[in-house]
Amino acid sequence: MTAARPADDLFVRYMKAFKDSTEHTATCPACLGETPCAEGAPILDRFAKLQDAYRKHQSKQQR
Ligand SMILES: [Zn+2]
Repeated sequence: MTAARPADDLFVRYMKAFKDSTEHTATCPACLGETPCAEGAPILDRFAKLQDAYRKHQSKQQR
């Protein structure tokens, strides 16, 4: 078993947030539009933040 690195944990959380937001928007027309519903807003916000964090992490590694 390999030890979990912070990057792996970030990726796992990113993928989880991606799945959550995809599953929610698939059944919620409001969140596909410009105004997310009260339930979807935090899910989409979390995904956006994790996506941003993950991309920053990746661009750091490439340098
Ligand atoms: Zn929604």
